[in-house]
Amino acid sequence: MKTFTSILSLQTYISEQRTKGFKVGFVPTMGALHAGHISLINESKRNNDITVCSIFINPTQFNNKQDFEKYPITLDSDSQKLLNAGCEVLFAPSVAEMYPNGTAYHLKWEIGELDTCWDGAHRPGHFKGMIQVVSLLLQIVQPDNLYMGLKDLQQFSIVKKFLHETKSSIKLIGCETLREPDGLAMSSRNVRIIPEHKPMARLISVSTYEAIYRIKYLQEPIDTTLQKMRNRFTDKPFHLEYFEMVQLETMRAVKEYRSDTSYAIIIACWLGDVRLIDNMIF
Ligand code: AMP
Repeated sequence: MKTFTSILSLQTYISEQRTKGFKVGFVPTMGALHAGHISLINESKRNNDITVCSIFINPTQFNNKQDFEKYPITLDSDSQKLLNAGCEVLFAPSVAEMYPNGTAYHLKWEIGELDTCWDGAHRPGHFKGMIQVVSLLLQIVQPDNLYMGLKDLQQFSIVKKFLHETKSSIKLIGCETLREPDGLAMSSRNVRIIPEHKPMARLISVSTYEAIYRIKYLQEPIDTTLQKMRNRFTDKPFHLEYFEMVQLETMRAVKEYRSDTSYAIIIACWLGDVRLIDNMIF
């Protein structure tokens, strides 16, 4: 595996590979890699000649300074995991390399209403920072295929809209969420859940799944189901931000279920001082 910290040397290497007719797959991450990230690498490896993984903890997408400061940094073990997975290229730039002229938001493209609902409302500025760094990384790597997790559904929807509206030729592939044996969606933040809270975390996936069962199979009214599920998160150490059913394409809340439409149950909650998100598509 080749590791680059400089944009220029990465680009030189990638363009050499392109002259051989190689297809490039790209997996952007913030490191602290787990099996969920590696599943994206595996998916890219199946369909590309070269897989590039970036590890960059992007300061502009953290609306909470503490979250940024506490974000795990495990570059050596990440590098080993990528090597074991057969990833060809690791790009791990510094903040100065990525933002030589400062981190002010520069992208002309407007996210629109996806910037103000759900995580957009609870983490102001997060998606602007995310799309800023994703667009920069895409300009640098210029992949054929881009692999992102459906776990971050709103992020995925925004990147999809961005690629569509900017008429990009990059193909976006949404990858399934990998879960712990108890159902908790894998996340780099899970290591911060204290042992005492860990057994409670399964309530997130259990309730999400149960909501689908009640709405889709028992045909229970959506409002009733959502309220029942929300009531499970009223006590500490939980603090619920949202538990909603949305239409998959628009991420707008819905009041009625139709069997010919795709939906997702989406949830964000705090467990102690760790913010967790999850969703299930149906
Ligand atoms: P992050 O490092 O958290 O920014 O995540 C990098 C990529 O991995 C994003 O596209 C995430 O959606 C994806 N990802 C994170 N957790 C999982 C998971 N449990 N299963 C599959 N993909 C994931």
